Amino acid sequence: MLPSFYVAIAALITGGFVLVGLSVFTWLRRPAIAGSAALPLVLAGSAVWVLAAAAEHIAPTLAGKIIASKIQYLGVVTVPPASVCTILTYLGLQRWLRRFLYLAIPVAILSITIVFSNEYHHWHWSEIALDPHVAFDLVKMSHGPSFWVINMVNHSQILMAAALLLPSSLKSWQIESTLVYLGLAAPWIANLLYISGNSPVANLDITPFGLIITGIFFAISFQGIGSIFSTIKLANRHIVESIADLILVVDQRQQLLSANKSARAILANHPLPAPIEVMFGKHNTLLDYLQAPSSAPEQDIEIEVKGEAMTFNIRSFHTGSHRGRNKATVYVLRDATAQRAYENDMKRHRKQLRQVIDLIPHPIYARDASGRFLLANDSAAIRYGLEGESVEGFTPEDLHADPNEASLIRESDQQVIESQKSLTTEQLFTGLDGRALIYQTTKMPFSHDENKAPGIVAMSIDVTKERERERLLERMASTDPLTNLPNRRRFQQVLDKAISRANKTFHRIALLSLDLDRFKMINDNYGHPVGDEVLCQAAERLRRNIRFSDRLTNSPEDPDQITVSRLGGDEFMVLLPNISGSADAAIVARRLIKALEEPFFVKSDQLQLGSSVGIAIYPEDGADPETLVRHCDRALTSVKGNIRGSFEFYNTDLGKAEQRRHTLEQALRRALDRDEFKMHYQPIWDAKTNQLHGAEALLRWDSAELGTVSPDEFIPVAEESGLVIRIGEVVLRSVCEQIAMWKKRGFELPVIAINLSARQLIDINLRDQVEGVFRDTGVSGAEIEFELTEGSILSENPRVEETLNWLQAQGSTLALDDFGTGYSSLSHLRRLSFQKLKIDRSFVSGLGSSTEDEQLVRGVIALAQRLDIQTVAEGVETEQQLDILRGEGCDYIQGYLLGRPEPPESLERLFNKEV
Ligand code: C2E
Ligand code: CA
Ligand code: CA
Repeated sequence: MLPSFYVAIAALITGGFVLVGLSVFTWLRRPAIAGSAALPLVLAGSAVWVLAAAAEHIAPTLAGKIIASKIQYLGVVTVPPASVCTILTYLGLQRWLRRFLYLAIPVAILSITIVFSNEYHHWHWSEIALDPHVAFDLVKMSHGPSFWVINMVNHSQILMAAALLLPSSLKSWQIESTLVYLGLAAPWIANLLYISGNSPVANLDITPFGLIITGIFFAISFQGIGSIFSTIKLANRHIVESIADLILVVDQRQQLLSANKSARAILANHPLPAPIEVMFGKHNTLLDYLQAPSSAPEQDIEIEVKGEAMTFNIRSFHTGSHRGRNKATVYVLRDATAQRAYENDMKRHRKQLRQVIDLIPHPIYARDASGRFLLANDSAAIRYGLEGESVEGFTPEDLHADPNEASLIRESDQQVIESQKSLTTEQLFTGLDGRALIYQTTKMPFSHDENKAPGIVAMSIDVTKERERERLLERMASTDPLTNLPNRRRFQQVLDKAISRANKTFHRIALLSLDLDRFKMINDNYGHPVGDEVLCQAAERLRRNIRFSDRLTNSPEDPDQITVSRLGGDEFMVLLPNISGSADAAIVARRLIKALEEPFFVKSDQLQLGSSVGIAIYPEDGADPETLVRHCDRALTSVKGNIRGSFEFYNTDLGKAEQRRHTLEQALRRALDRDEFKMHYQPIWDAKTNQLHGAEALLRWDSAELGTVSPDEFIPVAEESGLVIRIGEVVLRSVCEQIAMWKKRGFELPVIAINLSARQLIDINLRDQVEGVFRDTGVSGAEIEFELTEGSILSENPRVEETLNWLQAQGSTLALDDFGTGYSSLSHLRRLSFQKLKIDRSFVSGLGSSTEDEQLVRGVIALAQRLDIQTVAEGVETEQQLDILRGEGCDYIQGYLLGRPEPPESLERLFNKEV
């Protein structure tokens, strides 16, 4: 016997017993090792295989060897499938175990059956022979087909185990998986070497040696894994045990299967599993719930624990295997006692807070950053016609019909949120009844939720009444109680405001200081009550007379409002906040003076007063209110010293023209009564025949107070004041009387031209006037030519055309005066059937010096000729002008060159006379 034979036998026996030991050890540690018997089985199979291999070698008889070899097969068919199961467990794929065993167990049983029955069937080995020469090759076997089938099945199982392990162990290198690989590879490679005849020891099956390695490696590696599994399992158990929530597992048959430590505190003292009626006998509510669980995902339940009522929030979920076996429900009961108590506390606090804020008679509310109401007391809700908490969730846009109000609210909310500072505003809102309400609102930043952006909390106080009262007081303080006009205080404010406004708009302001003449006398002679009455009436007249101004509005807020104030005594101040020039101020002054000229009636007395007005213009007469008022007063003092019942400007340059107008107007009125007007006549010559063609009647005024005044100056004043109507009549009558006289004296009369003003053309009484004069003097329309300016016929007033037609119907001819200064077109002239046009003096004077004027005159004459209208050149002063006009074919000539306007006697000398 070779010593190596004994070594090998010793190794096999030792290894076999080691495997037996490991198998027993892992079997005992089974619960900790992945919960499976697969590993003890691998080790036991290996031990059987190894020990049977040793027995085969040392069995002295052939029968013994054959029995040992057959026993070996128990290991051969056990180890590969058990290895697969071990790997599946190792990988946590326990759910595949059962399916795999359905395949592996029948294979193993079939293999074993074949092995043990082969003596009868000779299916396994075809031949067994004893070889007496070689120590190890005691039995020589020729393998039959079933051997190969079993072998291939086993090899494929080993490969399968390796393949299962490979993907998971590739993810990360672990010593455990390496050991497992080696454990799988050792017997497999050994077996392959043996079967292929390449065994390092000829004819020795070295597979059992590989199996020893397998057993040791598997045992080592699974020892480590197993402890991890067991740690997790234990840890899970501990976790469940240590959870404060009560955890109960109840199966379908209403048996309590398991309960954690917290749950056990309320259980009856009875081993599990046990029916729930037994376990929860004392806790009826819980028992009722467990017997008929509600479908709600969670529910609150009152349970008495150690004599104390506690609230538990109960939730449940179902467990069980995938086939529906072991179905159970897990209940988790969380102690919500403190939470509920807290919530109730909160509710109570909220209710108390509501009571407190509802008691406050002002709207109190809070909004989040997006503008939604978080809170609103009753007063706030009432403001919106809602009730208490129903406001919550709404936005300002939902509650305010006017979008401007909502946006104002949002603006101030935003301001508070951004600045994180409180803010007090006063805003105007429309109440439910449509009344304007003023709310004074104080807003503060409000952090209602730690996780959300802060909003605002606010209180609004309705200050409408207060403000109304303030305004009333303000009005009272700024009103003169006697006349109800603004007083000095108010006047100062209005003036200040007007000045600051005028500075922006570059407008002018006029200040009229007005004072009643002879008022002191009335006070002295008739007593104060009468004086007061006069003041009231005067105030009323002033008010009425400025109310006619176009710029006056009724709105008290309008900055353009004209104000009349009473500063004291008989001193009034009128503020015209927006005038275009001094003329505007003069118009108002004149109107006010006129209004106060009318007699006052107090009881039975008729009192005649007058007034004087001093005018100052801003900014010319004073850049600040004080200076302006002072200068206005100075103008008043000055006018009172000169002519009472008049007005005067502080600044003479500005006021001169206005004053002159006023003086002229006053003088014109008197002139009519005093018969200060005379007519002059200027001859008009026929340019072709050099015969006297006609004469223009021109008005002359020799005023007793003002001396000779040019019609260019007084005619516009007469026009503006309306006096021109009366003056016009004087002119017409005077001219017609003159004609009548000349006719009586037997002169052959040329056409006499009379100037009609625009105002006369639209005067309703003109017809009556003209007819009356014609009747009185016996003059006919055919003897008169009327001269009209362009401006007067361009009026939109339909009466203009009517009047013109009527005059023509009387037989009069029409001449258009001052042609070229206005904008009338020639076609217009034709439509209104003018027979003549008078080329304005300004163009005639340019003849010979200005080519432009020459061209214009030439054009006008040519056009007029084509339209069959005759031309008259006015203001011909030189021979050169006369030559040019003749050359161009102008029909008639008028001017100083050929005759000035002169008294009628001078004209007489020209009748029937040639130049
Ligand atoms: P007008 O109708 O254009 O009258 C012609 C004016 O030219 C007259 O001025 C006349 O004296 C002036 N004149 C005539 N020839 C010459 C000249 O060669 N050189 C210069 N420099 N001037 C000349 P007068 O009389 O001062 O009248 C001025 C204006 O007053 C008239 O302009 C007319 O518009 C108006 N007027 C005069 N009398 C009356 C009247 O009785 N009724 C109306 N409604 N207006 C009148
Ligand atoms: Ca004229
Ligand atoms: Ca003229």
